[in-house]
Amino acid sequence: MVRNSCGHLVLAAACVPSTIYAFLALPGAPSHRLVPLASTTVKRPDAPAQTNGVKVPNAAIPDFAPAAITVPLDGINPVEPAFERYKAISVSALDEWAEKHPRLKEKLQDIRMSALIFPFKASPYLVDELIDWSCEGDIADDPFYRLVFPTMAMLSAEHDAALRLAVATNPLDTKATVADIRDALNPHPAGQKELNTPKDAGLTGVQHKYAETVLFFAAAAQTCHAYCTYCFRWAQFIGDADLRFAQSEAETMFGYLAAHEEVSDVLFTGGDPMFMKTTMLAKYLEPFCDPTFLPHVKDLRIGTRALSFWPQRFTTDSDADALMALLRRVRDEGGRHFAIMAHISTQREVSTDKAVAAIRRLQDEGGCVIRSQAPLMRGINDDAQVWADKWRAEVKLGIVPYYLFVARDTGARHFFDVPLHEAQQIYADAIRSTSGLCRTARGPSMSCTPGKVEVMGVQTVAGVPAFVLRFLQCRDANWIGRVFFAKYDETAVWFDDLVPLDGEELPWTPEGLPKAVPTMPWKALPAAPVQAAAQPKVALALE
Ligand code: SF4
Repeated sequence: MVRNSCGHLVLAAACVPSTIYAFLALPGAPSHRLVPLASTTVKRPDAPAQTNGVKVPNAAIPDFAPAAITVPLDGINPVEPAFERYKAISVSALDEWAEKHPRLKEKLQDIRMSALIFPFKASPYLVDELIDWSCEGDIADDPFYRLVFPTMAMLSAEHDAALRLAVATNPLDTKATVADIRDALNPHPAGQKELNTPKDAGLTGVQHKYAETVLFFAAAAQTCHAYCTYCFRWAQFIGDADLRFAQSEAETMFGYLAAHEEVSDVLFTGGDPMFMKTTMLAKYLEPFCDPTFLPHVKDLRIGTRALSFWPQRFTTDSDADALMALLRRVRDEGGRHFAIMAHISTQREVSTDKAVAAIRRLQDEGGCVIRSQAPLMRGINDDAQVWADKWRAEVKLGIVPYYLFVARDTGARHFFDVPLHEAQQIYADAIRSTSGLCRTARGPSMSCTPGKVEVMGVQTVAGVPAFVLRFLQCRDANWIGRVFFAKYDETAVWFDDLVPLDGEELPWTPEGLPKAVPTMPWKALPAAPVQAAAQPKVALALE
């Protein structure tokens, strides 16, 4: 018998012959959601796991929802976790939501007009529980408002004028203007359409940029519970088949992986794969429960923002139990590492009871490692304190801080971007004020055409200020880990703003493809005799 977070005694009644299992009630978790104190696999003939059509073998069902009796200490019946059905907030529902949150009313026209260009969708959880509707000043400055509600300020003056003119003169046919503006917003950044797609007509949802990692875009995952206003995958959501990566059948992808033994990691991305029902997700994951299936694929990752937009996906959604069972089997039976690549921008997103319960469940029941990543966006998280608080809160919850990204050159980039030198300062200030466990976060990193380029710092090189840069990833693996320089420029926001130092060159072609790695002249020199107490002449103090 244990006491849960509501003060209820919990009788764990999952006993199997020769073994008695004890369970822990999680703070903030639904009262019936119990977690084994030790990692266990039990057969539970009396209460079959809810599978929603997902194959779960009888002999090894990880049993995380035993028949438990909760006894309220206060004599009041325990409150069952509320089952909330996800219902997206679309433009057509805005009037209704403005009645609930009146500060929306003055914004409706702006949202509706800008949503002609930028896809709009919000989740009830984010609107009700993350936006601070009582904040002082303009509600548009609330980071979560800014995260999902578009505004005309996201457009350039030229595009703003063109759209307003089209709407004023021919409101029923703004299609051509909308298409022109969207086209000018670089819907496929970093050469993903031309450079990352395998030359196979059947592989419409596969990107293969780096040797060891394949990205898969399942057709049913090309949406999210809400849309970020800065989304770099916004082209996936605007209903234009030409702009979209998507593939419904899994076999072609499996065939591609079988032919590429260099691939160790598959990243399921979108949109948000966690938007898919578990039965659909199982089409892609179930085969990996067999350790002999594509054994060179060791790591499966799912990129998701559901922890911030709809954490109920992992707790009270009707197929959440089946999802946990599936994830666990991929790890325990398939022997794969399963990583949740969680898009988390601020501490608040991992602070609600619902988010904490979802995180615990993914870790304890799903057997997943959660890694966090997010771009640094003006008005949302462009503050060192925000990042330090976020990383500390994540580490406390067992989440591994992974990446701080730079805003990509797509969509409303100019509305959100932060100059590279400022991004580096924010990263360094945040890292400096945290413990070593938070310093697994890398950045600021640009996911650009040649690869992932980290801005390591600013340093004086040959008498001039310079950015110190490094490839964290590259189309040519020979560049990974190599440092190079560019002229310091306070206005630079992206890799193509960078200019080489005098007499030097940048490591990519004008198209953004990596050049051959130069031979290092000093490598040819005979090794200098080692001096016992030699000190470096120049200390590189990277900021
Ligand atoms: S969660 Fe990711 S894919 Fe979905 S809208 Fe946000 S940035 Fe785009």
